[in-house]
Amino acid sequence: MRYNLRRGSSESEIPDEISTSPPSANGAEPETEPSSPPAEAPAQAPAPVPVPLPAPPVLQCDDSPHCAGGGPCNQTAAFVLCQPPIGVINPLSIQGNQHTANFPLTCNTCQLHEEIVKQTEANSPYAIWAGAVAVGTNANHFRTQMCRNCIHREVRLYWTRVNGTGPTQNPPQPTAAHVANWPTPPVGAPMAAPLQDLCICVAMHVTPYGPNGSGNCHGCRDAVWTLATDAKEAITDILRNSTANSIKGDRRRHQGRDRKTISDLNRWRREQRGIGMLCPCGNEPEPAALQVANEYATICIKCMGVRIDPARLPARLQRNAMRDLRTRGLKTHVHKKKIDPAYRVNMERAWLEFDPFIGGGEGPGEM
Ligand SMILES: [Zn+2]
Ligand SMILES: [Zn+2]
Ligand SMILES: [Zn+2]
Ligand SMILES: [Zn+2]
Ligand SMILES: [Zn+2]
Repeated sequence: MRYNLRRGSSESEIPDEISTSPPSANGAEPETEPSSPPAEAPAQAPAPVPVPLPAPPVLQCDDSPHCAGGGPCNQTAAFVLCQPPIGVINPLSIQGNQHTANFPLTCNTCQLHEEIVKQTEANSPYAIWAGAVAVGTNANHFRTQMCRNCIHREVRLYWTRVNGTGPTQNPPQPTAAHVANWPTPPVGAPMAAPLQDLCICVAMHVTPYGPNGSGNCHGCRDAVWTLATDAKEAITDILRNSTANSIKGDRRRHQGRDRKTISDLNRWRREQRGIGMLCPCGNEPEPAALQVANEYATICIKCMGVRIDPARLPARLQRNAMRDLRTRGLKTHVHKKKIDPAYRVNMERAWLEFDPFIGGGEGPGEM
């Protein structure tokens, strides 16, 4: 095994990887000789001086030169030899080196780095586009607005799930197990209706590779995440730059043609109306909320998971105001797939000839 052994016990040899961080309390703190009286000598009775333990050797994992700014390595946990995830071809470590039989080793502190950043990117309930520019604190987030029709359908499905009137509590698809928050009927009145978040991006692309998963190195975790963000960017491009007919699948179905991009002038006109992207169904979305925290119905364009915040729903979408919650017999417009509250995704991507998410057929290996 390739451990980098460093001494942390001498005051002249603090490893520079951890020099920017406060000294840890695990014995790596340099033991200074009390050669001069301390500036603030305690006036009380002298506290018992603990007998200093010999400092253990400081192990550093191979990601640590990159991660030093985030704190020292976890020196007590077993290090993991990174095995590149399936689907990531020939990944390099964060330092740019090839994976080998004993490289890189990672510790579970470094494996956590950027996990929160990625979670925030995928899960922020922020409007992506308001006119030409992204708004909110995280310009890369995955969510966007839907049109009035799609919001109505999705809120209807939401209330059906919360009512518990459909086969909704044991969603059948494999990826449903990765849903951030599947809404179930509130237990005991008057419990508030729960948040729905059917995004699977964090559970599919972030946590499986962290310290609670396979413990991959920075390079591999970033490579997996790049696959997800690339897919998100590709859909952003379609919804931002295509004609409505292309997104609705009409060009593909009726003319056998590829999608058509809009002109700069038409994009400018969309943006003047506050629209940066169309709804994934091809209609114009509802305007972004003035306060991003007030977004009540958004969709993750990477995984098509819909997020509904019942506390923010306008009166017309509250349960008592929705006249019809039936979803039996409903089908998607183009692919003619069943719409079902037990399905994680009911928003079809009509520009695709085959949409693996729609109709309950999503596969577990979707990266
Ligand atoms: Zn790091
Ligand atoms: Zn480390
Ligand atoms: Zn729509
Ligand atoms: Zn997602
Ligand atoms: Zn790796």
